[in-house]
Amino acid sequence: MMTYDVIIAGTGPAGLMTAEWTAKYGLKTLVLEKRESVTHSLMGELVTDKALKFLRVRPDSDYIGNKYNSIVGESLDTGANIVVDRSLLGNSYLFDEDKCQELMRDRALSDDAEFRYRSRVNSVIKEKGSVVGVNFNQSGKEHGRLTVGADGSFSRVSETAGFKHPKWLLSYGYRFKLKNCKGIDPDVAYFFVGKDVGLGYLWLYPRSETEINLGIGRVPSSKANWHSLPPMQDVLRKYMKTHPETQNAKISAVNGGVVPCAGIIPKFTDAGVALCGNSAGQVSSIVGGGVTTCFHAGQVLAKHAKRMVDEEDFSEKSVGKYEREYRKTKLASNIMNTGKGMWAVSKYSMFNDPVAAAEIVLNQLDAKTLNELIQGHASVGTLMTLMTDFLPMVAKIGAGYLRAIAVSGL
Ligand SMILES: Cc1cc2nc3c(=O)[nH]c(=O)nc-3n(C[C@H](O)[C@H](O)[C@H](O)COP(=O)(O)OP(=O)(O)OC[C@H]3O[C@@H](n4cnc5c(N)ncnc54)[C@H](O)[C@@H]3O)c2cc1C
Repeated sequence: MMTYDVIIAGTGPAGLMTAEWTAKYGLKTLVLEKRESVTHSLMGELVTDKALKFLRVRPDSDYIGNKYNSIVGESLDTGANIVVDRSLLGNSYLFDEDKCQELMRDRALSDDAEFRYRSRVNSVIKEKGSVVGVNFNQSGKEHGRLTVGADGSFSRVSETAGFKHPKWLLSYGYRFKLKNCKGIDPDVAYFFVGKDVGLGYLWLYPRSETEINLGIGRVPSSKANWHSLPPMQDVLRKYMKTHPETQNAKISAVNGGVVPCAGIIPKFTDAGVALCGNSAGQVSSIVGGGVTTCFHAGQVLAKHAKRMVDEEDFSEKSVGKYEREYRKTKLASNIMNTGKGMWAVSKYSMFNDPVAAAEIVLNQLDAKTLNELIQGHASVGTLMTLMTDFLPMVAKIGAGYLRAIAVSGL
């Protein structure tokens, strides 16, 4: 039986970017995907310049579905809002997901990567404590020197390789692609908070004057809180009904998914195996953005896969060098910091009203700061000012957090 250099489970942004680069480095790469094609998975679409750089596409290319001049954060209940306009907004783009997914697949194919669809990985194969491949479908088996779990939030690779997942904050998301909308300003993207939304946000990203993506992401801050909220699809339908722009719109696609928002998991490498993307918690926690962070992690991992093949070393120590380099990067420390923040906010919400917290943020945050946070380049000065402005809320969150720790023993 042939042994691949790298077997990758999953063709989300993490798996595709890893495959593009391992194939480019000349590694014999096999990609297994449980769905029918790469475009059957949701990739995520709102991104900043960083993602375009990782993907090596130009802002004026076909891979970009739209570009925004301003972003508005608004309360669905009170109408309180913040506008980040052209003078402040860094570049924000809407990817054309299908084209981006096909681009990475085609680049990997042109460097001889092999893709197999309808191939569900069930477990890793272990020999003498090392992962040496995967079992998939009924009786499929393939051997690889490095197995990559890029199979999302409920990764089979992670689970069967024995990685520990602390109780994660998982954000559940739904998205409608809508056609036949009216009066849409294609230059403005919206984020909404509200009592029906819960701990999370509803988003409206225009693709054109008649097409939008309408989505919702929500973290269950507690079981009681989750059950007291309307189902997410109902919240989207209510939005459609109550807004003239979307009253006669047609739903052309529905996607859903789950994103980890508690930061990077404690360990995501071992002998012969590495995780990448959602499976490792490599997602910007507060906003639940994973495209850029997956692209980044995939590139770091592919570079190390090449080193491992050159050195013929797939030991725990050698694979762990990917994890060590990754954790030192700016994006990784950003994920860890926002992860802690998200954890604290969710604990706060268990004992307080999350919507009230969101309202406080909307009423006090200024557009410049919001933009810096969205773009991921808030300065130390800005963060210090934020801490001072939000001291009463931070103190409350702290108290809620401590109470939660006392109750849950975490
Ligand atoms: C509704 C929604 C909207 C989002 N919007 C944005 C956004 O605008 N911007 C942004 O940056 N991020 C966004 N995100 C987050 C982003 O989509 C994720 O963080 C990102 O897709 C994670 O990539 P991944 O490759 O790690 O995992 P996934 O994208 O989850 O991909 C995993 C892949 O593995 C496959 N798979 C799973 N199990 C197996 C198995 N056992 N065997 C074989 N294959 C398997 C799946 O079919 C899938 O193709 C959004 C998420 C959701 C849910």
